[in-house]
Amino acid sequence: MEILKKIPSEVKFAVEELKRRGFEAYIVGGCVRDLLRKAEPEDWDVATSALPDQIQAAFLNSYTDNKFGTITARIERMDPPGKSEDGLGKEEIFEIEITPYRIESEYSDQRHPDSVAWAKNIKEDLARRDFTVNAIALSYDPGGGKSEVEIIDPFGGQSDLQAKIIKAVRDPNERFSEDALRMMRAARFAITLGKGWIIDAETSEAVKKNARLLGNISKERIRDEFLKMMATDRADEGIELLRELGLLGHIIPELEEGYDVGQNKHHVYDIYKHSLYSLRFAARSKFNIYVKIASLLHDVGKPRAKQGNGPDSTFYNHEVIGAKMVQQILNRLKFKKTDAERITRLVRYHLFYYNVGEVGEASVRRLVRKVGMENVDELLQVRMADRIGSGCPKAEPYKLRHMRYLIEKTAKDPISVKMLCVNGQDVMKILNIPPGPKVGAILDILLGTVLEDPDKNDKTFLTSQVRKLGRLNEKELAETARLAEEKKEDVEEKNDKMTKKKYWVT
Ligand code: ATP
Ligand code: MG
Repeated sequence: MEILKKIPSEVKFAVEELKRRGFEAYIVGGCVRDLLRKAEPEDWDVATSALPDQIQAAFLNSYTDNKFGTITARIERMDPPGKSEDGLGKEEIFEIEITPYRIESEYSDQRHPDSVAWAKNIKEDLARRDFTVNAIALSYDPGGGKSEVEIIDPFGGQSDLQAKIIKAVRDPNERFSEDALRMMRAARFAITLGKGWIIDAETSEAVKKNARLLGNISKERIRDEFLKMMATDRADEGIELLRELGLLGHIIPELEEGYDVGQNKHHVYDIYKHSLYSLRFAARSKFNIYVKIASLLHDVGKPRAKQGNGPDSTFYNHEVIGAKMVQQILNRLKFKKTDAERITRLVRYHLFYYNVGEVGEASVRRLVRKVGMENVDELLQVRMADRIGSGCPKAEPYKLRHMRYLIEKTAKDPISVKMLCVNGQDVMKILNIPPGPKVGAILDILLGTVLEDPDKNDKTFLTSQVRKLGRLNEKELAETARLAEEKKEDVEEKNDKMTKKKYWVT
């Protein structure tokens, strides 16, 4: 059967090894779902009648890091054989998660904190899984010849896969009260599995009913689900789905403060919609996760900053209020400190002002110092998302490119005699002269020479040049210095032209 060809040799090896030892073994979960819908599985899970010790005995290179009995088997890569990541002859390793048949983990976990309850057979194992499309098991007869594929699908997962329906296994209320994170997973799968997927009516009613249970779930698990949702091109639809299901208020309630809160005469959309549209642009532009989160949250301070009503309302300081809120939100969701700071900074400075010819180098330098050179591109992307999300047809590409040009220009060290490997002190010592215009003129001339040929920035060479120049009279020296100055201006102009060309500005 076609499907067998899609299973990596390493996974087949794991299944066959377990079977050889007299155990049952099934490929299960997301990878079966993805195989059946002809998508590329992310990772491979195997469920087996073997217990942890027996799995470990079968795969010597295996490890376990959770209390649910999952053993990660590390198998030398076979497809293609011997391929190595670094070319140093090290084998690449394929990891497969192998789990004994288990009954509901969280549930059993609450009762027996230190033990896991095993299930009798694959059907019982499938019954503890979250959604029908995730509760299909696949095995085959490895006996060579015509391999028979065996599919175990007690909950109608294949027909839900056809119909693109996310439906809880058995009673959704039970599934969600056992593990409330499943509600977020429902929303995530409805987005990540692709266009046209919906959550079954009964399941979605149960989410709305049980939404508050999300409060019992660890913030780390919520964060990881949130990040998986944000990673997609349709992250904005995911956020809206979370809101419709009543889950958003238990993840980032601050975002709901902007729902239906109108802005002023400069804006078409309410605050919440504007945030979603900004995220939509960031997601479709494939901006990184920091920019996406900042685009979603950049105006989160607006509802609290709002003064007045209607076309003349104002939002003074919303970026400062918002940055504080974002810091709290991300800390609450246990984001890494450096990631939280990076996103907070994008929110804090998203309102930067720039206009070609009006904003000077000093202000640009100040902004770069505050945001950090490494975050400048991200800040400009948040700004584009903000603008497009406001319903403006263009993200002001010229203006932003021009700003990028000015940022690069101001970041470059200016061309100056400081670049030389001899300085004024050296010149005075070599020629035994006091400070005065002669020293400056000689340095200018040396700079001209070095700009012509950077290899000449060499102490021995420049010392001999200083001796030669010391023999010139004042007039000759001034004339040579003037030519050198012209050379410097030429180079500066050329550099500037190149930077301008790089950013397509004039
Ligand atoms: P993906 O890897 O694409 O995010 P997945 O369905 O493989 O999706 P995993 O988190 O890798 O999701 O889990 C593998 C399988 O384990 C699932 O398909 C499901 O059968 C089961 N599973 C995972 N998390 C839960 C949960 N919270 N409750 C019930 N079953 C779960
Ligand atoms: Mg998976």
